[in-house]
Amino acid sequence: MPPRPLAQLTLALIKPDLTANRLKANRVLGHIQQNDFTIVERKTLLWSKTDAEAFYGEHRGKFFFERLCGYMTSGHFHALILEKPNAISDWRALIGPTHPPRARIHASDSLRSLYGMTDTRNSFHGSDAVETAKKEIRFFFPEFDFERWEQEQRKGNTLES
Ligand code: GDP
Ligand code: MG
Repeated sequence: MPPRPLAQLTLALIKPDLTANRLKANRVLGHIQQNDFTIVERKTLLWSKTDAEAFYGEHRGKFFFERLCGYMTSGHFHALILEKPNAISDWRALIGPTHPPRARIHASDSLRSLYGMTDTRNSFHGSDAVETAKKEIRFFFPEFDFERWEQEQRKGNTLES
C-alpha cells in the first residue's frame, strides 16, 4: 500500500461573534468534520488587549488594527489545532477570502461567506504558511508536543506501508 499523504497541522480560530452563537458554532464544527479535518486540540479563551496586540502585531499601524483588537477582545473564542494533509491551504480555502462581501461573490460556499459579518468581523482565522502555523500553534498551545506528533505520523506511515 502506498504511504498515505503526510498530515499537516494548522491553527484555526473561531472568532468571538461566532463562538457566542452556539448553534452556528456547532454547525461550523460539523463543516470541519465533513471536510475531513481532525481536531487535535481545542481550547476556549478570552483575550486581553495585550494578547490581541501581540498576536496581530504584523497589522499594527493599519487602519483596521484597533477595530480588529477590539473585536478579538469582545468575548470568548475557540482556538483549534486542525490536522489533515494540506491542512494549511485546505483550511484557508474552506474559510474563504478575508472580506466576507468578497467571499460571497468569489467563494459562496466558504465559511466566511456563510457566517462572516463584516471586513473586521469575519469570524475565522487560519495560518497562512508552515512556519506561521507552527508559531501560531505555539502561541495558543505552548504545551503541544510537536516532536511527539511528528513521531506518531512517521510510525503510522511505517505500520501502513
Ligand atoms: P486573514 O489572514 O485572512 O485573517 O487576513 P489578514 O491577516 O490580512 O488580517 C487579519 C484580520 O484583520 C482579518 O481576518 C480581519 O479580521 C481584519 N482585516 C483584514 N483586512 C481588513 C480590512 O481591510 N478591513 C477591516 N475592517 N478589517 C480587516
Ligand atoms: Mg493573516
